[in-house]
Amino acid sequence: MPRDSGKIQSQLNKALDDMSVSLCTLKEGMSYMQQLPSKGLSQNQVLDKIKEYQTLNEVQWEKGCVSGAVYWGDETLTKLLIKVYGDFAWSNPLHPDIFPGVRKMEAEVVRMSCSLFHGGPNSCGTVTSGGTESILMACKAYRDMAYERGVKYPEILAPVSVHAAFDKAAHYFGMKLVHIPLDKKTMKVDVKAMKRAISKNTAMLVCSAPQFPHGVIDPVQEVAKLAVRYNLPLHVDACLGGFLIVFMEKAGFPLAPFDFRVKGVTSISADTHKYGYAPKGSSVILYSDKKYRQYQYFVAPDWQGGIYASPSIAGSRPGGIIAACWATMVHMGETGYVDATKKIITTARKITKEIRKIQGVFVFGNPEVSVVAIGSDVFDIFRLSNALTSKGWNLNTLQYPSSIHICCTVLHTQPGVADHFVKDVREAVAVIMKNPKEKTTGMGAIYGMAQSIPDRSMVTEISRGFLDCLYATEVSKTSTTHMNGNGKAH
Ligand SMILES: *Cc1c(COP(=O)(O)O)cnc(C)c1O
Repeated sequence: MPRDSGKIQSQLNKALDDMSVSLCTLKEGMSYMQQLPSKGLSQNQVLDKIKEYQTLNEVQWEKGCVSGAVYWGDETLTKLLIKVYGDFAWSNPLHPDIFPGVRKMEAEVVRMSCSLFHGGPNSCGTVTSGGTESILMACKAYRDMAYERGVKYPEILAPVSVHAAFDKAAHYFGMKLVHIPLDKKTMKVDVKAMKRAISKNTAMLVCSAPQFPHGVIDPVQEVAKLAVRYNLPLHVDACLGGFLIVFMEKAGFPLAPFDFRVKGVTSISADTHKYGYAPKGSSVILYSDKKYRQYQYFVAPDWQGGIYASPSIAGSRPGGIIAACWATMVHMGETGYVDATKKIITTARKITKEIRKIQGVFVFGNPEVSVVAIGSDVFDIFRLSNALTSKGWNLNTLQYPSSIHICCTVLHTQPGVADHFVKDVREAVAVIMKNPKEKTTGMGAIYGMAQSIPDRSMVTEISRGFLDCLYATEVSKTSTTHMNGNGKAH
């Protein structure tokens, strides 16, 4: 139903103000640095100063109250990473002649990852800065392949549940993202709808293993059959759970095949900086065959600065991060990953089982990996979100349909954490169920409202205002971003 848009705007603006105040509030006596210090700080002064920044942390993610975000955070691993990063801090794989060690490490990270996903002898890939870049690279490669075939307006066919990085890729690379609906019960992509959407403009098909919102694995084998039949590349986005699903069989939780063993799967993205437990800033994009990777590369043969060839988006890249990623992988080893996987999946399955027993809520589909998404047919699920936030949990809120999810990491496998979570959900739901139709308040109401606004450009503008807030360097309690009646921020 259309609502009073002026009222919605003012409420959203207020929410934005509250958010910017809570995100950007400093402690008593703190200020922003606006200029370089004229004389550099001594090392001790720098170390003193960073303590001040650490005091801004309020969320105790170490205790396992946050969904996703930090996937390991173990202190002994941190120590190793500091040493390895230090040893390679100045290295840059753009200069393999100067830094041959980093070249070898990157090649090995790719090869070890290909082996985990059962790539053949011709499988290959590159290390990127994160899941988004891995996805961008696959889309760019397949766009250029489509161009070569004479397609003018290449299309990505991907499930509605696919990560927003595909929207970004479409936006950056002049492609069209065609969203394929999900089966409402399983939350897996509707393969028949995918088939119907295939046209002469189709550049690639996509599945997620698993997808972010509900942690469900798409029917990779069925979509791969379409890929083979229509001779289209198929990307499997395993950014989130890639480094869990490859170990699940050995951990005692077998899955349907999702990797290069499935004929038709031509690329896979997997984030080493999620369940690979490496520090942020690394991921891998893998291809079944070297012919696909060719389309990812960029070469400027005529540049005055010399013939310029680079594998991915960045030019210079952080060798230290690649070294830290390599170190994490070889330190974990197969048994390390299998043990962590066993713990995480056991925890997620336990949470799923217990949440399903609670009257008034349901779990979306069959979450086979680490994400458990919760919805309700009886009350507004964002009320549960509010209640859990006040109990100290930091979960993800999802839309279309309204839901919340917890993404289990090693931190949730600590004794008592999962039980505590289930207990808090049970108690909160019991309170809500006493009055299921009660109005949603606070942030929960904002999520609901943001989703109900038909004019999405307004939501976009307000979100830009949010990004502006992140760059605030003034101690001010009022936001400078406000909407006028035309939905333009000013
Ligand atoms: C996290 C994630 C990505 C993108 O990863 P970033 O590292 O945040 O860029 C892609 N796909 C899925 C399913 C994810 O969960």
